[in-house]
Amino acid sequence: MPEPLDELYRDIIMDHYRYPRGRKKLENADMRNEGQNPVCGDEIELSLKLDDGRVDEVSVECMGCAISVASGSMLVDAIKGKSLQEVRRIAAAVKAILKGEPLPEEVEMGDLEALAGVKNFPVRIKCALLSWTTLIDGIEALEEGVVANVTSTE
Ligand code: ZN
Repeated sequence: MPEPLDELYRDIIMDHYRYPRGRKKLENADMRNEGQNPVCGDEIELSLKLDDGRVDEVSVECMGCAISVASGSMLVDAIKGKSLQEVRRIAAAVKAILKGEPLPEEVEMGDLEALAGVKNFPVRIKCALLSWTTLIDGIEALEEGVVANVTSTE
């Protein structure tokens, strides 16, 4: 018998999967990056607009399984308005939750807590991490002064 908490988490994940947040393309994004998870076939394109060092707008277009799409949608909600330093903290907390490690207390997880159950399905952990690694790679490239290159051919 499933525990009620698991069901709640599943409902949150399915809600994000069905109605993903932040699918609108951003014009003049400050950062763009793409990522793939070949194991599952998930693909993501992510872009950010920054204002005064904070995330002003986020766009995530993810094609993939429920976990990857839901995680990308949660990312949109989680990082809006945050500084890049806070964004890194949230990304680290997501990694912790997926490894079953204790959460740093100062991080407000919100819906991201629903990803906790994914740790029981190791093959899905990469799905849940895809949007976050794509985000962090993009931010690092941005901070190094390299525009994360996107070759959108379609
Ligand atoms: Zn996947």
